Amino acid sequence: MKAHILGFPRIGTHRELKHTLEAYWSGSIPLKTLHLRATKLRQQHWEIQQDSGLDTVATGDFSLYDHMLDTAFMLGVIPPRFHSVPSSCPENLYFRMARGDADYGLSAMEMTKWFDTNYHYIVPEFTQGMELKYFSSKLVDETREAISNGFSPKPVLVGPLTFLQLSKEMDDCNRWDYLDAMLGIYETVISELAQLTDCIQLDEPVLCTDLPDEVQALAPQVYEQLKNAAGKSDLMLATYFGKLEDNLEWVAKLPVDVLHIDLVHGSGQLQHVLKNWPKEKQLSLGVLNGRNIWKTNGIKATQLMRNAIENRGEENLWVGSSCSLLHSPVDLQQETDLDPELRNWMAFAIQKCEEISLLKTAALGSDIDQILQENIKAIRDRKSSPRTRNPSIRQRTENITSAMLNRRTLFSIRKKEQQKRLNLPNFPTTTIGSFPQTNEIRRIRSAFRTGKCSDVDYQEFMRKEILDVIRTQEEIGLDVLVHGEAERNDMVEYFGQQLDGFCFTQNGWVQSYGSRCVKPPVIYGDVSRPAPMTVEWITYAQDQTDKPLKGMLTGPVTILCWSFVRDDLPRNEVCQQLALAIRDEVQDLEAAGINIIQIDEAALREGLPLRTADRQDYLNWAVNCFRLTVGGVKDSTQIHTHMCYSEFNAIASAIAAMDADVVSIEASRSGMELLDAFKDFEYPNDIGPGVWDIHSPRIPSEEEIFNLLQKARKVIPDDRLWVNPDCGLKTRAWPETLASLYNMVAATLRLRLDLLS
Ligand code: GLN
Ligand code: ZN
Repeated sequence: MKAHILGFPRIGTHRELKHTLEAYWSGSIPLKTLHLRATKLRQQHWEIQQDSGLDTVATGDFSLYDHMLDTAFMLGVIPPRFHSVPSSCPENLYFRMARGDADYGLSAMEMTKWFDTNYHYIVPEFTQGMELKYFSSKLVDETREAISNGFSPKPVLVGPLTFLQLSKEMDDCNRWDYLDAMLGIYETVISELAQLTDCIQLDEPVLCTDLPDEVQALAPQVYEQLKNAAGKSDLMLATYFGKLEDNLEWVAKLPVDVLHIDLVHGSGQLQHVLKNWPKEKQLSLGVLNGRNIWKTNGIKATQLMRNAIENRGEENLWVGSSCSLLHSPVDLQQETDLDPELRNWMAFAIQKCEEISLLKTAALGSDIDQILQENIKAIRDRKSSPRTRNPSIRQRTENITSAMLNRRTLFSIRKKEQQKRLNLPNFPTTTIGSFPQTNEIRRIRSAFRTGKCSDVDYQEFMRKEILDVIRTQEEIGLDVLVHGEAERNDMVEYFGQQLDGFCFTQNGWVQSYGSRCVKPPVIYGDVSRPAPMTVEWITYAQDQTDKPLKGMLTGPVTILCWSFVRDDLPRNEVCQQLALAIRDEVQDLEAAGINIIQIDEAALREGLPLRTADRQDYLNWAVNCFRLTVGGVKDSTQIHTHMCYSEFNAIASAIAAMDADVVSIEASRSGMELLDAFKDFEYPNDIGPGVWDIHSPRIPSEEEIFNLLQKARKVIPDDRLWVNPDCGLKTRAWPETLASLYNMVAATLRLRLDLLS
């Protein structure tokens, strides 16, 4: 049996890659230094894998930005707008593709979520008449580098099916027409790698999705060609993020040597695979979760491994991580502040490498209990710890009734009650919550956190900040005001810090895209709200103005999706606990006289399961959790929700089922096109399609906003149309914020006049 991982995080224990990249981009270090530091990181990552006792080290998993971009680069899939960039310095071209270049009017390539993770990949672009060529030998070079440093590498590359399936077509070309040209390059790369190693990993996570028949039909020929190129070297087909299900039938016939399966996100598929994957071929068991931070249950994992050993002997088996460790933080050793009891339940990437090696020893050894002694103790401690269970919360979730999920009356009746109380004009204007987070705000927050700013000074500063944004909004002439969220560093962390059942790491960073990382909170136990979280700030804000103020909360699904979630309770139950905590906050805000409350569900869509068959179930519980937060509020209390994306086709009916009085969405970049989803569906409640793309500093003119709104009016009735930016403004600066909001209000006034005439 061989032990391996599918890939190691690139970012470095102390986010060295982030700092290096940003230093390079800002011009403070030369390219040579960037490469030296990258080489050093790769070396460290290989050492970790080797020292842990893994049988191979992954190569090609390292990237200066993204592995999909690397693959596009390897294949010469370079969008025409970048042809003007001199290719004498490939890094120049590479980073421009990733990040754009305003000076040359080059827009960056699009980014989107890598399957159902929080990692964003660069979406390769195909256009008519592209000429592909073997453009970058990075993978071969890094594999050579590993060998010359004495490691035994297993090169990793994105498989052609996944690459094409995730790419997009910019004109009416058909990206699959490029398959042949691509395969030619894959063949070259694979035959070069085959000279160097005896196993090559091709990542094909799309095999765990509902794959179109046309793609299935291409697979045998594709892998026939790749296998020929590999010759005596083994091809490992790496599938992850789910089960193979029906795809296994034809996957089993592909001429590859090793099949890697995910037994965490695809748990329960082992028997099916053992039965259908040819016995004489190798199988890799992904028994260890590459996407979470908990120790693996060694007994359960070795049981799976022993099943497989009985079925086909150990020689043909591998054991590894479910997917690449890209999605887990690097080193638990660094967490010196973490409560030791909780820390003992966790494993980050380095510890996961050690776990894999240990599992191999245990599965092959004669005394599993002895070998896994420490693991068994940690798992048992966690299971029996009173810190993970709170009987009163369990009782509360059990007692959730369907009545608790409903508003008291229908939207049409509520709307009248709300209008009576709020007296809003046509096309009410508002923002999504946050206002620019200036350096000063960040500085005070961090000083307060580290005890360098007193509670009194902090309160005073924040109150002044709130007062300022209130006055500014009044001056601009907005109708529904917000307090500005200056006290929040992050929309999930802020709530997590005030909820029981959460803990936080110091260095638990995970790459989100390029040099950007996130540090998700950890939900380890039952969640509850010991005290109100936002009421003081929000009521203070409302007291400063006669205009209605919108209280801002983060929704349960979003908190769930952006945290490391405990694996000892179903996700929907964790979400219910979060929903009850937010529900309490909603009740308190309402009781404190706040008439409008927004519950952001920015992540609702990204929680969608990969398989269509699983989606309805998810949407049902996710929508119910949202409804639980607001069920029972008065008719006259107006509930808003906000979502940061524009693809609604798959979830339009779920959004309607949330039954928020107002939903704000991102729409400006697509020029309101996304509203079609709402038209087809006849979305019943109020909508605020974003009219300002807040992802860029560009100021939209009054004219532009007016035109967008006129477009929106074709789909949304006048009495249900709100006016707002695409998202929160915390990453924007004040000058463009002021100018854009003034234009937004002016465009709205013009619209109101238009309505009168
Ligand atoms: N209320 C949040 C803000 O304005 C919403 C952010 C988001 O949806 N990502 O910052
Ligand atoms: Zn948003």
